Amino acid sequence: MCVFCKIINKEIPSYQIYEDDACIAFLDISQASRGHVLVVPKKHSDNILSLDEEEASHLFQVATKLTKHISKQMNILNFNIINNCGTIAGQTVPHFHIHIIPRCIGDNNKFVFDHNVLTKNEFDNLVTLLKYN
Ligand code: AMP
Ligand code: ZN
Repeated sequence: MCVFCKIINKEIPSYQIYEDDACIAFLDISQASRGHVLVVPKKHSDNILSLDEEEASHLFQVATKLTKHISKQMNILNFNIINNCGTIAGQTVPHFHIHIIPRCIGDNNKFVFDHNVLTKNEFDNLVTLLKYN
């Protein structure tokens, strides 16, 4: 059983801040910044690729509510809302979760994206490949 399933089953403790029928939210054990929270479905899915879309809607709704709540309680207006899908993308716990990470000036967190220049032809090919009807 994965570590988040154990938390959900109360086999190991967590600093829980929210619970409903479908999910829980608790403090990340290694606080990237103060107030770093994870929103976790009670039903195990490895990652977003196997996550039910209705469930996903609910989880993002809860993440939105909790981000607003953390914002109010901590007087913070800057956040990164992150999901890592797969080990190459930085996922270390194989149970879907949404990170809510408050951001402050000088907090030392870096979420850096590469910048690639594509030709118009490459963009055209990509949009043909990815267009979702
Ligand atoms: P990720 O790397 O996106 O899979 O995120 C997994 C997160 O789970 C990391 O930020 C860990 O610090 C956090 N984590 C791992 N074990 C625990 C635990 N027992 N309680 C709370 N957070 C945990
Ligand atoms: Zn699990």
